[in-house]
Amino acid sequence: MTSASGGAIATIDPSTEEVWTAVATADAADVDRAVAAARAAMDGAWGRRTSPSQRGALLARLADLVRRDARALAEIESRDNGKPLKDTLGEVQRAADWLTFFGGAADKLNGEQIPYSVDALAYTRHEPVGVVAAILPWNSPISLASWKLGPGLAAGNAMILKPSEYTPASMVALARLVEEAGFPAGVVNVLPGDGSVGALLAAHPGVDKMSFTGSQATATRIMQSAAASLKRCSFECGGKSPFIVFADADVGKAMAIALQSAFRSTGQSCSAASRIFVERPIYEAFARELAERAQRIRVGSPFDPASHIGPQTSAQQLAKTTDYIAIGLEGGSRLLAGGKRPAHLERGYYVEPTVFADTDNRSRLAQEEIFGPVTAVMPFDDEEEAIALANDTNYGLVGGLWTADVGRAHRVAARIESGLVSVNTFRPVHYMLPYGGYKMSGIGRENGFDAMKAFTEVKTVVVDLSTAPVADPFPL
Ligand code: NAD
Repeated sequence: MTSASGGAIATIDPSTEEVWTAVATADAADVDRAVAAARAAMDGAWGRRTSPSQRGALLARLADLVRRDARALAEIESRDNGKPLKDTLGEVQRAADWLTFFGGAADKLNGEQIPYSVDALAYTRHEPVGVVAAILPWNSPISLASWKLGPGLAAGNAMILKPSEYTPASMVALARLVEEAGFPAGVVNVLPGDGSVGALLAAHPGVDKMSFTGSQATATRIMQSAAASLKRCSFECGGKSPFIVFADADVGKAMAIALQSAFRSTGQSCSAASRIFVERPIYEAFARELAERAQRIRVGSPFDPASHIGPQTSAQQLAKTTDYIAIGLEGGSRLLAGGKRPAHLERGYYVEPTVFADTDNRSRLAQEEIFGPVTAVMPFDDEEEAIALANDTNYGLVGGLWTADVGRAHRVAARIESGLVSVNTFRPVHYMLPYGGYKMSGIGRENGFDAMKAFTEVKTVVVDLSTAPVADPFPL
């Protein structure tokens, strides 16, 4: 794969800090070429002559190819973003499941017949929006690409994928599988490059929709550029997810899931349990056990099967995480575990799983997304206070509560301001479950039929059936 300018991005293996591969980087000429190719596909074979069932069959074929090459794709992903191989393998398998689901959904999105008049036939059609630019972050490129490619292609759009400059390699490999699956030329385009490539897409008059996953700051910039041509926008942004443990909960289960939700993927997850609220009677014991168990998490090479978590994906992200650890210490939070580089790892962007207690929920540590293995444990005294603390944030992606009281479970679930609330589990993510944010965590939903509808325009068609003559509206 080459770019018009011949430029390339060197991508770094975060476990060694060494360049491991280079990927061609797009410039303005490549953006124009990709938009033109996507537009031609929409105006040609893909837009006009490919039935929903044929689109579904192509997605199913792509899913099979992703399964066939799962190991190779996972190795690329681990090399690029530093997640343990077993985690990236799971993500690649799930990406195939997403593509399979949306392949099956492609011919099941029906319009409606609306009986608004006896003298007319009225119906709706779900038509593709057109050319969609899908912009990805670095934490889970293949998985998040499948969240966009699945519904976007099932609904009949042409897609331009722009991976993060930190993790472009897996999208190049995926593009080869798209070709092998037999998608017509121009239906899926991959444009590696930095934010300037995303900005060109957001401003491009030939792009009809922006489907973005990344930070809230970038979403704001995209929305500003997209406003000029009133592009459709959907945004999946960050979170500062509350994890609320009442004293009557199954504390053992809550503890295990808290550890997993705070530290898996080295905390580089939009739904990480970064604010853990614990009811006062069990607060100190919970915080201490969480810290003890966090210290036992094995940090190491993504390719060592013994590693539980790997490095941060980039030097910039490591610097951000260590800055927030300093902010926590300066702000008076009590450090119970971690806080520094693991002594046994000399190279790589590693940091220890870090647990703070007694954090002020208004502090920067509790209000700003860190995207590293850092969590803050805070006490609460009653249900009202737990809800108030959980909602006291600009974010609203995921929330969870742990309790044995069924009435409280539903009361609190109804009042948490998040797109997904889980009770006695945390952040269940599935292709059938709508996922997305309230407040600054985003606009729109991914997954499920809601996601597919968001890649369509609804057209209403009304046909007059009457035989009565129409009187002259302006008789002389
Ligand atoms: P980011 O916003 O820095 O970058 C995301 C993408 O946007 C990259 O491809 C980048 O090159 C591109 N970009 C940068 N500037 C741009 C511009 N001006 N116009 C268009 N595109 C531009 O985010 P990141 O650091 O890559 O990812 C981490 C963020 O992603 C976190 O906030 C995390 O919570 C969020 N995230 C959200 C979800 C979700 O489903 N809600 C999932 C994963 C990650």
